[in-house]
Amino acid sequence: MITHGLKALAQALAGKRISSVELTQLYLDRIDRLNPVINAFITVDAGKSLAQARAADALLAAGKGGLLTGIPLAQKDIFCAKGWRTTCGSKMLGNFISPYDATVIAKFDAAGAVNLGKTNMDEFAMGSSNETSFFGPVKNPWDITRVPGGSSGGSAAAVAALLAPAATGTDTGGSIRQPAALCNLTGLKPTYGVVSRYGMIAFASSLDQAGPMARSAEDCALLLNTMAGFDERDSTSLDRPTEDYSAQLNATAGDKPLAGLKIGLPKEFFGADERTGCSPDVMQLVEAALAEYRKLGAETVEISLPNMKRSVAAYYVIAPAEASSNLSRFDGVRYGYRAAEYSDLNDMYSKSRAQGFGAEVKRRILIGAYVLSHGYYDAYYLQAQRIRRLIANDFVAAFKACDVIMGPTSPSTAFKLGEKAADPVQMYLSDIYTIAVNLAGLPGMSIPCGMASGLPAGLQLIGDYFGEAKLLNVAHRYQQVTGWHLQHADGLA
Ligand code: GLN
Repeated sequence: MITHGLKALAQALAGKRISSVELTQLYLDRIDRLNPVINAFITVDAGKSLAQARAADALLAAGKGGLLTGIPLAQKDIFCAKGWRTTCGSKMLGNFISPYDATVIAKFDAAGAVNLGKTNMDEFAMGSSNETSFFGPVKNPWDITRVPGGSSGGSAAAVAALLAPAATGTDTGGSIRQPAALCNLTGLKPTYGVVSRYGMIAFASSLDQAGPMARSAEDCALLLNTMAGFDERDSTSLDRPTEDYSAQLNATAGDKPLAGLKIGLPKEFFGADERTGCSPDVMQLVEAALAEYRKLGAETVEISLPNMKRSVAAYYVIAPAEASSNLSRFDGVRYGYRAAEYSDLNDMYSKSRAQGFGAEVKRRILIGAYVLSHGYYDAYYLQAQRIRRLIANDFVAAFKACDVIMGPTSPSTAFKLGEKAADPVQMYLSDIYTIAVNLAGLPGMSIPCGMASGLPAGLQLIGDYFGEAKLLNVAHRYQQVTGWHLQHADGLA
């Protein structure tokens, strides 16, 4: 049962072959057994989950259920959920019980989904390996000596280890797509503004966006239908007509369902010089996926994103600048961690922050405060904003020549725990293919495209603004003819 996708689970629930309580209990039992190894969940509360499952069963019995009613989902611990401990992977919020729901959580509740627990993540979503979490690293279910990617590594590992059928993630520079790639999942970062950020603890507000992490494009579409939509409580939420992403999955059919689709291949990803950044085994799998796309009728064209090479540098000015401002609210006064001993107010602030934040978070706050300070603002922050505009313009030009852009999601498969932990720049380069998408505010996906030495690799699909439905359709067509997304880590039993 638990190896099936969301549609099969919904059918089983609707057909009364299993109740939501039974299904939830199956997952809770598996979490009990395997979470001590994987560390995918920070907080599990069986009582709360089963109460939601009972309510869902009552709805289903009354014939009032929707497609997600009774389905257990894992929620990244960045989303405030009323009555749940919500830590954001930090000691700073280790004792924080949220008094309210994030919009994403409220929407899933309204759809009758069951919150299975809060998943582990890099502290305040800063990281690419889940090693910055105060609650310890997450292990990749494909090889527990390796990282699951980050920052949504707990969500990725939970789904990959079949501890949950699907999960939420957030992506500021790659945190949905990169862990999806490293754990063989399908993950979607929507266009900035499509999913509400209300109640989602802010890292870099102009980049943060929530999205689904699941086994297939079909499941992602179903989840996005619930997650997306205007929210007046988020000033950057976009007011536009709702879309039915599931209905558009089969928008194209037939023998060559993608006939006429133009896939742009950035020469900066595939060119002879630059490709050294990507490991040859991952590149080979990406090329094989492109061959599959050509069989589906798509055509590939070379495009150029000349400012792509500046994206990591620009991101590591802009994201820390916004983080240093967002994280100033954690002062130990109203909520969160407060140092036990201090001499006066200023000492309380500084001791609470010194003890409550981990090393990576402190590094970002320091860089952010520096690039925003008088005398450096023009040289760093404004310059980075100019590069951000150039990157966005590159994409606008590229989408005149193609419908979707493809390339690797991550330059390598899952690396060893500890391998990059001591070298921040190496770690930052894990997101070399994903960061530009956030800087431009575009939608991006990662889909499984094969195995290299037993480890999964991801193909990245980048769409034009509001191209989620198209991306999901393009991913779905590939998943109809290939089976990579159906493979799962079986070493855990
Ligand atoms: N790895 C990137 C960082 O550390 C992106 C993280 C994210 O998308 N949340 O900032």
